[in-house]
Amino acid sequence: MSAPKIKPLDPDVINKIAAGEIIVSPVNALKEMLENSIDAASKNIEILVKDGGTKLLQITDDGHGISKEDLSILCERFTTSKLKNFDDLSSIETYGFRGEALASISHIAKVSVITKTADDRCAWKTTYLQGKMTSDPIPTAGKDGTTISVQDLFYNVPSRLRTLKSSNEEFSKIVDVAGRYAIHSKNIGISVKKLGTSQCTLNIRNNLTTKDRIRSIFGHTVASNIFHIDFPTSNSITNPDDKETSNSDTDEKNLGLKSITGEFNSLNYVSKKAISPIFFINNRLITCDPLRRSLTQVYSGFLPKGNKHFIYLSLVIDPRNVDVNIHPTKREVRFLYQDEIIEKISLYLNGQLSKMDSSRSFATPS
Ligand code: ADP
Ligand code: MG
Repeated sequence: MSAPKIKPLDPDVINKIAAGEIIVSPVNALKEMLENSIDAASKNIEILVKDGGTKLLQITDDGHGISKEDLSILCERFTTSKLKNFDDLSSIETYGFRGEALASISHIAKVSVITKTADDRCAWKTTYLQGKMTSDPIPTAGKDGTTISVQDLFYNVPSRLRTLKSSNEEFSKIVDVAGRYAIHSKNIGISVKKLGTSQCTLNIRNNLTTKDRIRSIFGHTVASNIFHIDFPTSNSITNPDDKETSNSDTDEKNLGLKSITGEFNSLNYVSKKAISPIFFINNRLITCDPLRRSLTQVYSGFLPKGNKHFIYLSLVIDPRNVDVNIHPTKREVRFLYQDEIIEKISLYLNGQLSKMDSSRSFATPS
């Protein structure tokens, strides 16, 4: 058999493949747009969804908006207002950083934007397809902020459309991610509504406390049985019990931890309903399996078998120690001294739960 000829792929195909890696289902698009709205210093973010996000995914925010002259390159790949050189990657504080999200979305959906900055006298409206602005911005009425509408997601990737879950399941994933961001995003209001319904499925006003946010999203049982943790960490958390066993190198090691805050369920919490842990590192919603396993292990020593737990944990780590570049979806994060940090948190949780456990047994003598 003769060798098949090697030919370059059509750029359109390359773009579609790249986009499909970042946007696997509507919730990935939602997360990117939500992060953009948060980056834009919004106070209120409204999400509107039709058919699980495949027909319409629309986000309206009251953030700083986009300048009219930037609109022409908004959906081009690697255009960003957040990262200027490679070194910035290590200190980036905003959510997005590589200008791929909107570009990707525009290769697999029809995107339209209405935006107004505080300096603009009117809002500007335009549309995008395959990374390019399809018509000059036209003036329109609108408030300060940005509305981005994504229509017919995956219209040109029918195979992806077929592998999606039902509209209701895709919608639930959107509500779940929006809810997680709502718990973490103090002072920001976030709502989610299905197009054509009058009631919001999720509605978190911007003045709600973290506890009230948790109550609104996960219910009264969760919210009334949580305790707050907040331990400022100068350089590293030192556990007094560690001193003897660990060598001084480990003690001296700067773990790069800046703060650990969160809400954990107390031992009065009785629930069989699993809520996957809510982890944020440097304000990004992430998953971290080793951390999840370790904290689950701690709880299993205190809670009756089969009882679930609730964890919301926000870590702030020196950005130089966090590798956010690991995957385009940026969900799986790796960080330096991961094992040490997980152990410290687990020991701390263990200590807190032990205290509760012993006061509980004093309170109810057998
Ligand atoms: P990134 O977030 O990595 O920069 P995106 O493709 O998500 O890349 O967005 C590109 C740029 O578009 C952002 O850098 C930002 O300047 C602008 N942008 C996107 N969404 C918004 C928004 N809701 N409000 C203001 N600016 C936005
Ligand atoms: Mg972004």
